[in-house]
Amino acid sequence: MKEASEPRFTLSLGHLYPDQLNLYGDRGNILTLRRRCELRGIELRVVGLGIGDALAPDEYDMLFIGGGQDKEQAPVAQDLYEIKGIGLWAAIEDDMPVLAVCGGYQLLAHYYRPANGPDMRGLGVFDAWTIHKGAHVPRCIGDVAISWNDSTLVGFENHGGRTYLGTAKPLGKVLKGYGNNAEDHTEGAVYRNAYGTYMHGSLLPKNPHFADFLIALALKRSYGRTNRAAENLVQPMDQNNGSTPTAQHTKASKWPSKSRSRSQQGIEDDPVKFLTPLDDTLEWEAHAALLERMGLYTAAADALRRSIEAGTVLHLHEISAARE
Ligand code: GLN
Repeated sequence: MKEASEPRFTLSLGHLYPDQLNLYGDRGNILTLRRRCELRGIELRVVGLGIGDALAPDEYDMLFIGGGQDKEQAPVAQDLYEIKGIGLWAAIEDDMPVLAVCGGYQLLAHYYRPANGPDMRGLGVFDAWTIHKGAHVPRCIGDVAISWNDSTLVGFENHGGRTYLGTAKPLGKVLKGYGNNAEDHTEGAVYRNAYGTYMHGSLLPKNPHFADFLIALALKRSYGRTNRAAENLVQPMDQNNGSTPTAQHTKASKWPSKSRSRSQQGIEDDPVKFLTPLDDTLEWEAHAALLERMGLYTAAADALRRSIEAGTVLHLHEISAARE
């Protein structure tokens, strides 16, 4: 039996609130990251961080937070602010890749005003805020496609909250669907290496290029340099909510910093080079099929053309013949 060879790299992913925030297969994002890592000899260790668990940024290379209903978000918002807030800020200010989906995305912005009940204070990582327009206003539900990095991202959305961006950069422009607020054609938000999006589905299985983008960011950050002590990166919590870190917050943040110096020659310049191309035929066919279903035929053909360039032979002629 072939000996399992030593992983070339090891990455740790902190999965925030796996029991509370896991709608529409969000966990599928973790499975995709793990599988794509595995196929490149990268071991992805996944640690669940629930309510009450501290977040010591030095222990992770990337973080994921999924979506959930209003009633699940409320206790999470409190825990995020009181327990994990400073660790999460420190990680994000230190360019840790973070993927936040829907409800999790809303709680990384300034606040979420649900249809009923008090505002949920957010961490203010994204300069944005979310307002639920009330149960009488239709939810933003359906397939969604956005432009991203000269490519497209596809997924499924279901949210009552509408998110408005302040200075936060959007993840992409809506091609089909509602996106942040069904008004300004923006979708998601980006701050440093933290990515917020409304796209469930789950997102990463049908967007292999985005999955690899996040893995490459984590490799670059964790193997491209020695980690600075986390506590130097503590940022004051978002002022807009008039909340600044109290003594016990900052005291609590003095976690032991274990600088994990791991380095790999050349990874800083081109981490993607360390990700051997995979046969993403199925992924790109699923991506193109969703674009097709949304009537975005040219984008669908483009997606398939890109995957052929990536070395996977596909049935482009079928799409164009059927459509044009
Ligand atoms: N509860 C939030 C809303 O309705 C988020 C929903 C979700 O995560 N899918 O907007």
